[in-house]
Amino acid sequence: ELDRFELSMRADNYFVKSFSVKELLGNGHSQINHFPIRKELALRVGNTFMQTPVAICILKGKRHIVEVANDFYLKIIEKGREFIGKPIFESLPRLKAGGLKDVLDKVMQSGIPFCDKEIKIQIVRDEQRQQGFFNFAYDPIRDQDNVITGIMVIVTEVNGDVRSSKYTEENNAFNFTVLENSPDCVKILDAEGRLQYMNINGQCVMNIDDFKKLKNKYWWELWGEENRQMIKDAVIKAVNGEKTQFQALNPTASGVPKWWDVIVLPWKETGNSGDPKQILSVSRDITEQKEAAGKIEESNKRYHMMLMQSPFAFSVMKGKDMVVTLANDLMKEFWGKGANVEGKTLMAILPEIIDQPFPAMINKVYTTGIPVHANEMLARLEHDGKMEDHYFNIVYQPHLEADETISGVITIAYEVTELVVDRKKMEAQALMVKNLLMSAPGFICILEGPDHVYQLINEKYQQLIGKRKLQGKPILIALPELKGQAFDTMLDKVYTTGETYVGIDVPIMLARDEKLPPELRYFNFSYQPMYDENDKINAILVFGYEVTEQMKAKIAVAESEMHFRQMADLMPAKISNADKDGNVRYFNKSWLDFTGLDFEELSNLGYHKIMHPDELEEFQKRLKKAAETGTDLEMEMRFLNKYGEYIWHLNRASPLKDEDGNIKMWIGVTSEIQRIKDEAERKDNFIKMISHELKTPVTSIKGYTQILLRMLEGAHEIKNPLNIKNSLIRVDKQVSRLTRLITEMLDLTRIDESKLLLQKELFNLNELIIETVEDIRYTITEHPIKIYEDFTCNINGDRDRIGQIIINLISNAIKYSPNNDTIELRICKHAKNEVAVSVKDRGIGIRKKDHKKIFERFYRVEGKEENTFSGFGIGLFIAKSIIERHNGSITIESEKGKGSVFTFILPVAYNN
Ligand code: ADP
Repeated sequence: ELDRFELSMRADNYFVKSFSVKELLGNGHSQINHFPIRKELALRVGNTFMQTPVAICILKGKRHIVEVANDFYLKIIEKGREFIGKPIFESLPRLKAGGLKDVLDKVMQSGIPFCDKEIKIQIVRDEQRQQGFFNFAYDPIRDQDNVITGIMVIVTEVNGDVRSSKYTEENNAFNFTVLENSPDCVKILDAEGRLQYMNINGQCVMNIDDFKKLKNKYWWELWGEENRQMIKDAVIKAVNGEKTQFQALNPTASGVPKWWDVIVLPWKETGNSGDPKQILSVSRDITEQKEAAGKIEESNKRYHMMLMQSPFAFSVMKGKDMVVTLANDLMKEFWGKGANVEGKTLMAILPEIIDQPFPAMINKVYTTGIPVHANEMLARLEHDGKMEDHYFNIVYQPHLEADETISGVITIAYEVTELVVDRKKMEAQALMVKNLLMSAPGFICILEGPDHVYQLINEKYQQLIGKRKLQGKPILIALPELKGQAFDTMLDKVYTTGETYVGIDVPIMLARDEKLPPELRYFNFSYQPMYDENDKINAILVFGYEVTEQMKAKIAVAESEMHFRQMADLMPAKISNADKDGNVRYFNKSWLDFTGLDFEELSNLGYHKIMHPDELEEFQKRLKKAAETGTDLEMEMRFLNKYGEYIWHLNRASPLKDEDGNIKMWIGVTSEIQRIKDEAERKDNFIKMISHELKTPVTSIKGYTQILLRMLEGAHEIKNPLNIKNSLIRVDKQVSRLTRLITEMLDLTRIDESKLLLQKELFNLNELIIETVEDIRYTITEHPIKIYEDFTCNINGDRDRIGQIIINLISNAIKYSPNNDTIELRICKHAKNEVAVSVKDRGIGIRKKDHKKIFERFYRVEGKEENTFSGFGIGLFIAKSIIERHNGSITIESEKGKGSVFTFILPVAYNN
């Protein structure tokens, strides 16, 4: 009983304990099958039963195996106990031949009892072989489901001649004992169906207090209306010699509803007419069994329903051919072949799986009885004419019968397609990510744990450090040269704080391979913490790339910029560098020297502030145009120097463009052109002056010539020949002056074109000087001129030109000594083979500042005093040029207001 209740519990448990179905089914079946048999045996086979003079034998199953046979039966058939447990016809083949097998098979099939009457049998009795007549009754035995499981053979002796009265008495007594002791309700009815007798146990079972009240009542009156006809029919049948068995619900006398298994059969015959005089009715209380069966059925239903509706696909296949006897909706859905699958073989339902592993797996379970669990099995199934891939977790269990024989295979399947597909996708993705990482253009590695042990290392990372094996080693052991470079402390920090570290252009001493020395290399990289499923840092992801080449290039650029700046600083030109918007980023040293400011001051002040206001506007206009057109700006303009003077410069700004033609920066080159400017101005003045100078002699020549002409017109009127002479002297003077002027101008152009030819000759310098001074004394001046001849020498040179120089120097001395002071000439030895000629005056003198400049072309000292003297500023320039052409030099010593000394030095020529 307890087992039964446990059964329903287990059905529920099935879905909790996933694979207990085999146990469950096996258990369930054996419970169901064995219960009534056990019960029946317990009821029908008592101790006394074995010794009764009635011969009894119970046969089980289709092979009619002898399950029970009492001593009397064994005596009749003359067999020992070895008879039990074997098919009856194995021991009694003669009976089979006699047609008994057909009889037994028919009883088993039809359930109709059979009686063989008055069979003559020789039996040993009182140690004598005697003949007897026996009735053989064959009754089917049923389980509670009314299925025939065997046959009860009851043999009774009928031959009255042979039967002793004592035996009959014994037999009657036995019958009565059996009736009274039967736990069933045994009733005897008369032929009309009226109650005659009921055993005591029966009265108890029926809750009848006093049978006397019921005696002679019609039996069917004890039944409810709905059953009465059935009872009447059974009684009629019994009267006609037929046995009826049925089950029906009927309350006991006290109203307790109970289920009864009722057998109604003819009991006693009278005389030879064969009419039944009495009817035997045996009712067995089967309420408990019914209830149990109901419960089992209910449990089975529930179990069945659960299976049918379970999230697992479920099927039962029977036999070698795998005939499907049961499949739940889900399984049918999986198979995709409609609802009508029961009764078909698996291969008929799913021909497409013939080459898939399933038939073999099922077959193995069927033959070995060992369950098979298979996960994520790929099943290629045809759904609506299309092949589809599905994945299942499958359990194949043997389907066991009550006797533990394998009758088929139970399939439990669970679809995991989505899971598998998702997982495969994820696996593919993970693989892709890994491949990506491994072949990434940057280097990647994972350092695991607090000791930073190399785990994943991509190709790029490996390339950084050559053939060295990193996997599984802590970073400082794998790459010992990193010790002392603080990477371990940085990693520790990331590991403990979780803060990402990013390093840009980090210099690292790192060897390219094991045997190579560490090199200075540069890296951009990041250390990122990685977290485990508990959100704890368990590793660091290192990602980065080497920038050594770029850094080297950067450094080279910086160095080249340095060189450029140094160069720029050495240049006399002013160089600046401005961004595209004109903000100056660099001024070279010339600029700083010129302005007397440092870079900061100059940038703060602004480039425009040092421009001359007259040119600023124009400059800005032109700069704008240059920026628009991308062309160079070139402009002459003045910049303020540290002395507060505006100095002329040629200012050039050139735009530098990128590949797209956009201006990146401006390069400014500013050259001082003050001297050029000045010279141009001087040239202008020279032309003005020369026209003036030319005008004067020409006008005077013209004047004197007209006077002379007039005088000659009236020759008679010539009274004063002295006047003519004077006029002619003046004409001559002016012509000399003109000649000198023209000569100087010719010389000037020749010097300019480097075409000045010297007519060299050997001559006495002292003589030349004396001659020249004589000429001057005679024609020009009142100034006393003194000559000191400390040295006498010859010169190899252009006598006229050197004479010209002497005239020039003396003329200047006279011109710039307005007070007629004495002029002194000195000829003296200079160095070893040179002669120095100096001309000294006591005139206005020359500021130190102008000493160099007076030898420049067109340079004339500016000043109130100086302006009163006419001149072109070319005399000294020509003098210097000619002296230098003679391998000599010209110098000046002078002080403003104190006079000047001009000295020229020439190599001396010796007569050999
Ligand atoms: P210039 O025809 O103007 O005299 P020079 O070349 O001979 O041209 O002289 C150049 C300038 O040098 C002069 O203009 C004058 O200012 C200055 N100079 C030359 N000689 C003397 C001198 N003896 N004393 C003062 N100034 C002189």
